[in-house]
Amino acid sequence: MGIKKETCEFKTEVQQLLHLIINSLYSNKEIFVRELVSNASDAIDKARFKEQTAPELFEGSNDFKIRIATDSENRTFEISDNGIGMTFEEVNENIGTIARSGTAAFVEALEKSNGDNTISPELIGQFGVGFYSAFIAADKITLVTKAAGADTAVKWESDGKGSYTVEETEKAERGTTITLELKDVEEGDQDFTEEYTIRHIIKKHSDFVTYPVVMNVEKSEPIPEEEIVKDAEGKPVGEPYRKVRADETLNSMKAIWTKSKDDVTEEEYDEFYKHISHNWDKPMEILHKRFEGITEYDALLFLPSKAPFDMFRPERKNGMQLYCKRVFIMDDCKELLPEYLGFVQGVVDAPDLNLNVSREILQEDRLVRNIKKNLVKKIFAMLEKMDQEKYETFFDEFGQALKAGLPTDFDNKERIASLLRYKTTKSDGKYVSLDQYIENMKEDQKEIYYITGENMTSLINSPLLEALKARDYEVILMVDPVDEWVAQSLPEYKEKKLKSAEKGDLDLDETVDDEKKDAYTPLFDFIKEKLDGKVKDVQVSNRLKDSVACLSGDDAGMSAYMEKILKASGQDAPAQQRSLELNINHPVVEKIKAVFETDTTNPVLKDYSDLLFDLAVISEGGKIDNPARFSMLMGDIMAKSI
Ligand code: ADP
Repeated sequence: MGIKKETCEFKTEVQQLLHLIINSLYSNKEIFVRELVSNASDAIDKARFKEQTAPELFEGSNDFKIRIATDSENRTFEISDNGIGMTFEEVNENIGTIARSGTAAFVEALEKSNGDNTISPELIGQFGVGFYSAFIAADKITLVTKAAGADTAVKWESDGKGSYTVEETEKAERGTTITLELKDVEEGDQDFTEEYTIRHIIKKHSDFVTYPVVMNVEKSEPIPEEEIVKDAEGKPVGEPYRKVRADETLNSMKAIWTKSKDDVTEEEYDEFYKHISHNWDKPMEILHKRFEGITEYDALLFLPSKAPFDMFRPERKNGMQLYCKRVFIMDDCKELLPEYLGFVQGVVDAPDLNLNVSREILQEDRLVRNIKKNLVKKIFAMLEKMDQEKYETFFDEFGQALKAGLPTDFDNKERIASLLRYKTTKSDGKYVSLDQYIENMKEDQKEIYYITGENMTSLINSPLLEALKARDYEVILMVDPVDEWVAQSLPEYKEKKLKSAEKGDLDLDETVDDEKKDAYTPLFDFIKEKLDGKVKDVQVSNRLKDSVACLSGDDAGMSAYMEKILKASGQDAPAQQRSLELNINHPVVEKIKAVFETDTTNPVLKDYSDLLFDLAVISEGGKIDNPARFSMLMGDIMAKSI
């Protein structure tokens, strides 16, 4: 195999990112250290995992550690690990050509969020800029890596300005060494070649990394008795201490999840949360528990304070890590929590698990299924216990995720439903739970009424709610697209049916005067015909009190909003024909009837049929087919009536 050297261009998004990193100001430059340490730790995790199935690759070299070395004269910062390493292809893929999902979003968020070009650690952490963050501090980066089991190594080099080189090289040990040629220190800046600075940074950001982060540091040690130089009177000459260089482990490596709650400080929890979640804010809630019984295991879970930007992207990783006796087994462990709780971050350490488990086996594993069930229970209990204000903050961030659990988690349906919060026609902008709703129901009210749509204001004022409002019934306003699925998967709650205000009969026991109703039948049939297939029927409304027209659907039909969502997402929405409902107590309808009864050929009748339909569409915030004609007709009518 010849030595090949290639010069490659960074992928466009990576270039954009690097440009931003190099040209931005940082409120907190030191974070690159954490990013590199956590990559090294991940690489060792992968090595230890591989060691379970291919121990021969690691014989004699499984003293896993991360090493940092600095050189103040040459101004370099070096970090090495004896983890899994990378092959030639992996180097190309991982650092250069493939922009990870967060990259584009990061660039976008940065460009949007601050004109002043300041990159905060929160942003870097949230999007996992990772390796590239090293260009915060470096003019040039050299990475040399040797994959487990490989014969040759790879050298990657770049100044971050558009391209990088990769070539084959020699390296004695397995793993990765990254060397940063540091930028000049400006006044007030930290100097990343100072031992003291590095020690401080590691303690602050990487204390929980499970492998030793070692640095060869200068230390003072007492001079041994026999080596002490003494004067003629036998008194020691000079200092009793001398400077030596020695390895020092900078992090405590505490697996805090195996400790008891009382032995962990709030700070330790916060730091650990930052470590596993890559977030920079505090967790909203912490759940730390040892489960005891047939099997024992430790769980430490965190509810983040903020929803991640990519919460609903399918490629998003689940926040759970699985350990077995403090040995990392896998992250992104989807088997530990249902998908809709994937925003929860945490660790489960299950000593009884087989270390050789694969993802496939895990799914079938009874112990894991049991853990999942218990974790979900605990999470619900925690949410139910939260005080109202805190819970509502949580719900604002993660309510959408919870709702997504309704159609999928059959066992916990009722529990999820009780955690939902909605604004209603009577709640004055505040949240109401379904239980509160039921408590507030009027004596003669049988069902839970809701309406779905895009916009709170147009929902509150919807003519579809007039009759319900006249009876002082509360209506739940659902403005989240997921709510359509909530409504579909929750036909009833605590024996009360959920009923859409825009569909079917509202069951209001209205004593409609049949005779009066029948008198309108010929006119309504006529209007239906004039509307030429646009509506399924024209009916006397029992929903309307003040408005003249609205559209309603069948009980089993799709709501207008659902239709809109489906269309917007490019799916085929079967053309829903709804009924035009007219308010026979409205003077316009009466007057049209009078015209109709004198002369069915009067052209006004066609115009008014169209207008009634358009008014119904407009009142629900929909778009009418022919706005120009609508405004012309309105103009005419206004002129006549003035
Ligand atoms: P992230 O770590 O969030 O995936 P990075 O940009 O930091 O993103 O790293 C990209 C990829 O490069 C990693 O996923 C990993 O596969 C590889 N990588 C980075 N550092 C190392 C390392 N020290 N050893 C082995 N692989 C590494």
